[in-house]
Amino acid sequence: MISKSCRNPDTCNYIIDIGPMGPIGEGEALILRVTRNCPWNKCLFCPTYKGNKFGHRDVEEIKRDINAVKRIENLIKATFEKIGWPGIIKPEIVNMIMIRSYPEIYSKDDHNLTPENYNARLTLNNVVNWILYGKKRVFLQDANSLFMRPNKLIEVLEYLKATFPTIETVTSYARSKTCAQRSLEELEELHKAGLSWLFVGIESGCDEVLKYMKKGINSREHIEGGQKVMAAGIHLAAFVMPGLAGKNGELTERHVLETSRVLNEIKPTEVRIRSLAVLRDSPLYLRWESGEFEAPTEDQMIDEIGMIIENLNFNCIIETLQMTNVLFNLRGELSVEKEKILANIASYKVLPPLERLRFKLNRYLSDGYLEFVKRWGKFDSQLSQLIEKAKEGLREESPDAETKIEQAIFAIKSKGIP
Ligand code: SF4
Repeated sequence: MISKSCRNPDTCNYIIDIGPMGPIGEGEALILRVTRNCPWNKCLFCPTYKGNKFGHRDVEEIKRDINAVKRIENLIKATFEKIGWPGIIKPEIVNMIMIRSYPEIYSKDDHNLTPENYNARLTLNNVVNWILYGKKRVFLQDANSLFMRPNKLIEVLEYLKATFPTIETVTSYARSKTCAQRSLEELEELHKAGLSWLFVGIESGCDEVLKYMKKGINSREHIEGGQKVMAAGIHLAAFVMPGLAGKNGELTERHVLETSRVLNEIKPTEVRIRSLAVLRDSPLYLRWESGEFEAPTEDQMIDEIGMIIENLNFNCIIETLQMTNVLFNLRGELSVEKEKILANIASYKVLPPLERLRFKLNRYLSDGYLEFVKRWGKFDSQLSQLIEKAKEGLREESPDAETKIEQAIFAIKSKGIP
């Protein structure tokens, strides 16, 4: 966030506003903020924008950010024309050269950065990365860019593409409700202006689950919004959340079947599966603590993934490339790879019990999740004890090993999502 009282005008010319959420798979994209936070902000499982008020950004303000990106690009070009481009080069090296070349913008002192210097470095990071990936993708922040009036969003998209003709793909998050509220013509205009992908959190197709989770939408609106996006020619990635109905029961079955039904009606370009993590900062965590919400086990969520996929009857890309899934590396075109993906899930389920427990625990201890928790400074003694107990249970093959492992995984996931 840019400080309102930017003290150094030189530095402020090289800063853009960047929000908190970087989506998975958008590592090559320029992050451009067109609205701030989430206009809904009530979903029980989501802590991302809680405590922050939604805000529109003026078109002129966003254009200033686009101009700042151009200014940084020009500065990088001028710098490397002077010193010579050394060929294939890592973003960290370009950043370092820029920071050293322009101490008046980025400061030469790493330890006493002003908020402006810090934001200028953050912006530089964003722009350098994007340039090195060929300036092809842009991701519009924050939670629901479609909430912006269509004519204003179109003006931003046109200005963006006129300033950077290399841009091929523009992506954003959106709520189904807002998609449903837009007319087909408005969505078609947005597509024509360059909006190529919308990422929409469907989470569940079951009205009871949606209501409990305060998603603010029902299955009919999900279908209406999704179908309109697809009809307008915009690619749709639909996110769904196994585990959202809580511990296995009749509601879980409806959650799975209704989610598949809604997806079958929408036929999105991609289905992205993101198993539930009950995050410590979310309202859902309080309900779990009070005993009102019973958390699902990891194996239950794997079963749900299998059932959702089993019940899909259209072609799309399906993927589980989210760190909250135990099996987080499944991806394929459904018409070609459905059986293979289901076979992968089945082969996990038939592992001998101890091997399955080991796989599950290692998945969260060794595949990067725990590293992120440590990097965020959220690895505490309580978590350390739970992990040790889980390891001990596994080592001693104790009857409650599975419970201990589930408790450790739950605690790791509650710290955040990498
Ligand atoms: S709409 Fe999205 S960003 Fe907003 S509260 Fe719900 S899950 Fe979070």
